[in-house]
Amino acid sequence: MTSVAKVAFVFPIRSVRLRIALWNTIAVSAAVIIALITLRQTVHWALLNEIDQVLSEDGAEVRLVVAELATDGLEAIGEELSRKAAGHKQHRWFVRLLGADNEAAWSSQSGPDDEIPQSLPLAATPSTVGNCRTLSGMLPTNSLGLTQFQIGASLDQFHDDVVVVDRLVLIIVAVMICLAPLFGFWLAGLATRRLEEMTATAASLHPSEMTERLPHRGIGDEFDQLAVTFNDLLDRLAAFLEERRNFLADAAHELRTPLAAIRSTSEVTLAEDRPEGVYRGVLEQIIEDCEALEVLVNQVLLLSEAVAFEGKSGIESVPWSDVIRKSIDMFAGVAEARDIRITCSTDSTINVLGSRRHLSQVSNNLIDNAIKYTQPGGRIDITTLRDHKSGAAVLKINDDGLGISAADLPRIFDRFFRADRARHRDSTHGTGLGLCICKSIIEAHRGTISCESELGIGSRFIVTLPISKTNQR
Ligand code: ADP
Repeated sequence: MTSVAKVAFVFPIRSVRLRIALWNTIAVSAAVIIALITLRQTVHWALLNEIDQVLSEDGAEVRLVVAELATDGLEAIGEELSRKAAGHKQHRWFVRLLGADNEAAWSSQSGPDDEIPQSLPLAATPSTVGNCRTLSGMLPTNSLGLTQFQIGASLDQFHDDVVVVDRLVLIIVAVMICLAPLFGFWLAGLATRRLEEMTATAASLHPSEMTERLPHRGIGDEFDQLAVTFNDLLDRLAAFLEERRNFLADAAHELRTPLAAIRSTSEVTLAEDRPEGVYRGVLEQIIEDCEALEVLVNQVLLLSEAVAFEGKSGIESVPWSDVIRKSIDMFAGVAEARDIRITCSTDSTINVLGSRRHLSQVSNNLIDNAIKYTQPGGRIDITTLRDHKSGAAVLKINDDGLGISAADLPRIFDRFFRADRARHRDSTHGTGLGLCICKSIIEAHRGTISCESELGIGSRFIVTLPISKTNQR
């Protein structure tokens, strides 16, 4: 039965959705408040500007009235200006005409006269005095001795308009502050829905059936990228698990055969009484089989270690030729016993970055194979050199041994692959794991391993490894 991972409950306060909603509220509210304050100030300025415009036109009109009616007397001027003041009563519009002594010669009835001081600054633009907007200016020279005019209007209407605008701004801000979180929460829900779908799919995945993949819409957004990356990881994981499964199955298969052989030999031997020599012979055979099994188990462990090794831990700058020479020394006795000559030409300046123990394993395996698959009287040439073009350390191991057929050559690095056993010496039947271990180690060191071979002529194994930068000469 497959168990499905539970999706952990996310506290609302920690949820991305709530946080997006909160950020949205803050951003929208700040933008709206800034926009409304700007709008309020603009309306404020526009209203005041309109009043000033009207006052400037009124000032021009007063000048004209004084210029035209001065000959008819102050009464005629007052009559004309009173009519105008009456027309703008709702704005409490007023006008004052001053004489040379700066005293009011004539004032309109309307307007907040008492609030306005007698002497107003002569300015080209209107100014605010108390609750009034006022403008004063020079009058054209006239026979009545009038020198200045003062006009003004109440700002009551203006203040009322500003209050209306302020209220409107406040209402909009209040509505926005209430709606923004709700709208933001809804929007964030749309944005994070796919995240929830992905979490649910990921939670339903089980290592035994890694067939499901995260959906992606193909629009190339961040969620699609996440889904593609995650699916990619799942593909690699599935391949890795499949590989592990096959490895286990292969290992079990390889172990089953010798175990079955030991069991059946024991059963057959015990089926009837036999002379002591027979038992001895069977026990010796069992010990031999157990030794082979031990080698196989060790190789399996080594391979699983090599597969897990990522070339990260236990890494040092390794003198490559030292490693090769130590392997040659180790196998020199076996080679000599089989009358196989080993020549060696190594570049002692080459250091490679890696695990000394694992790299020794590679050179041991390759030299061991070269000896195993070379007939007595044969020759093995070992060379290390620096490939200046690729900047890699190259190891070549040539032998003039049995060689490998073109059909077997592509499979020699496969797990448990052994070429036709008939052509091997009795003692050379190996586990078929050696080259596979070499390949795993070399690839973990970001290197390559390849083989060129011809049946009956010999083989050449070529290993390349990146040179250690710490010790390059
Ligand atoms: P084994 O334990 O059988 O040697 P390996 O993985 O080391 O396993 O090698 C796989 C197969 O490749 C061997 O069975 C052998 O047939 C072939 N092979 C490896 N090295 C050589 C070589 N130097 N010359 C000829 N055949 C070789």
